[in-house]
Amino acid sequence: MRKLSNGGVAKDELDLLFLRVVRQDVKRYLGLKDKNLKQSLTELLRSKPETLLKKLNSIPNDPRKRGIMLQVVYVEISSELFKIISNLCDKYNLDFIDLVSEYSTSKLTGLTDKTKKRKVSKSKIKKLPKELQIYVSILSKLNQYEEKTEQFYRTKKQDSFLIPELYYEEIRKNLLFLLNPSNGRWAIVDDISFLNPEKWVRRAYSPDVVQGDLLILPKEILSDEEREFFRALVANGVIYQNRRIKIESPDLTIQPSLLSIVVTTYCNFRCKYCYEEDFKPMRPDLENMERTISRLFSKYPTIKTVSFFGGEPLLEFEAIRRLTFNPFIYGLPKSIQTNGSLINEEIARYFKLHKFGVGISLDGPDDYNKLRILPTGENTYEKILEGIDKLKYVGVMFGLLSTYTKDSEGLEKEYISWISELNPSSFGVNVGVHRKYLPSWRSTLKFFQTTFEAYVNSDIWTKIRYNTFLYHIDVLLLPPKDRSLMLFRNPCGAGRSHITVNPDGSLSPCPELFMFKSYDLNFFDKFKPVYTRVVESMCPACPFRYICTGGCPGKSIVYHGRINKPLEELCKFRKRFFVWLASKLYEDKKYLEVYKHWKKNLKVNQITLEP
Ligand code: SF4
Ligand code: SF4
Repeated sequence: MRKLSNGGVAKDELDLLFLRVVRQDVKRYLGLKDKNLKQSLTELLRSKPETLLKKLNSIPNDPRKRGIMLQVVYVEISSELFKIISNLCDKYNLDFIDLVSEYSTSKLTGLTDKTKKRKVSKSKIKKLPKELQIYVSILSKLNQYEEKTEQFYRTKKQDSFLIPELYYEEIRKNLLFLLNPSNGRWAIVDDISFLNPEKWVRRAYSPDVVQGDLLILPKEILSDEEREFFRALVANGVIYQNRRIKIESPDLTIQPSLLSIVVTTYCNFRCKYCYEEDFKPMRPDLENMERTISRLFSKYPTIKTVSFFGGEPLLEFEAIRRLTFNPFIYGLPKSIQTNGSLINEEIARYFKLHKFGVGISLDGPDDYNKLRILPTGENTYEKILEGIDKLKYVGVMFGLLSTYTKDSEGLEKEYISWISELNPSSFGVNVGVHRKYLPSWRSTLKFFQTTFEAYVNSDIWTKIRYNTFLYHIDVLLLPPKDRSLMLFRNPCGAGRSHITVNPDGSLSPCPELFMFKSYDLNFFDKFKPVYTRVVESMCPACPFRYICTGGCPGKSIVYHGRINKPLEELCKFRKRFFVWLASKLYEDKKYLEVYKHWKKNLKVNQITLEP
């Protein structure tokens, strides 16, 4: 990855660069071959002032160039010029200060009267002693363009493209991923030669092309083709036009809209990567839970969706049944995340009747499901398939959620065809972050690249939704607040838009953040460290911050014991994966076609806890 800070040129370097450019031009236009500009000009002033005046007149009449070139000449010869004029003033008994302020119109001398006419007329100069006339003409000439130059920049600056600090990465030869880190907007371009301040300093004839962290390109100095190119980048949000557009601050006052209910922390499986191993097992205290739920809904009528979690929630099917009939919950869309092993026909029918969205956790074909075992160490694959068969038999749509771990390597070869055989309505893949099972970024990258490719190129994409596919494209196309997966929002929403009721009736921000607990309905204070964990403070230096948004705080706790520390292996994966996916969106129309197909079938702004 390459970092570009306006080409990395500091302001004082630009000033020097610009001065070098102007001095070269002065030499060229005045036909001065000697290396030392000051010496050449001084000699000319002393021996042939008429020639110098003639040469000054030959400088092209471009306000942008002429004014600045004359100023450079002024700086080089002013002391010698004033010395000559001063001597001649003594000779002719004239007041030097009066004369200079009378015949100089420039602010450079510090003697200018603002109310005075800017240009000194030739007839006025002719009233002076003949010997003085040529030097006063030179003085007047060197000053008269200053105002024109200033005016030029005042007007031109008003209509400009503003280029902030950008990052780029080469996808392959002549194809680059360009990213604005301050808003997460990106583009694929075939040329970044525009990020070359030196080029624009020469073109604009001013060091003002760099101001602070912005490269400022007045439209007037651009060709039609360049303007078109910059307009496209403005449309993508990568650069700005006339003013910088600041990203909206995260809304930290949002009200709860999603309620998770953890009915139990017991589980009939002993999956090796499961975070639940640290749990004190709890069965549901229904009275407490219902009291909390009623008070919660009365205080936050904004809650619109309910999800049941565990442990294994179906160990407490009766509790689920009772909570379904809670008057606040009954009419709302409901979902459940289960290992599927306890689903029988009765439960399947219940899900159908109450329109539950059912998510089954299953990591892949039998060989890839080895970390999901019973307490006896027995395999669970067949049991889960039996549960799925019951759902199919009764006609319940279900989704699959797989966890990709260190032990999953190779799964990418058969994953999509396995999904196709199982025929869920949707599926998604999480990366398992248990310390012992976190996969390498290379393996994770390979898995997602391969399965995304296989998905869009198979015929299953029209009927089976690959949630992880949609969520990652969301990230590239939508601002954080509009993304469907909480993981990619900023903040994720846990503890604010998402709230969890635990089996003992206490509240937590999210089932993954059970270590934050409140028994008080005014939980916002307690959960503040979670919902104020925004990427701006967590990863301020990462160029991908508004794409990635920092990852799941729960996963950071599982891995690091802290909510605000990124998982480096996932960072490495994400940065590469987003660039790869951006290039796919650019090169292969199918990616956008599949994304649009599903987005139109999804409810706008539907929020999902995990894929
Ligand atoms: S699972 Fe992670 S990203 Fe999702 S709501 Fe919980 S803490 Fe946030
Ligand atoms: S979690 Fe990693 S990739 Fe994401 S914003 Fe932070 S540093 Fe960047």
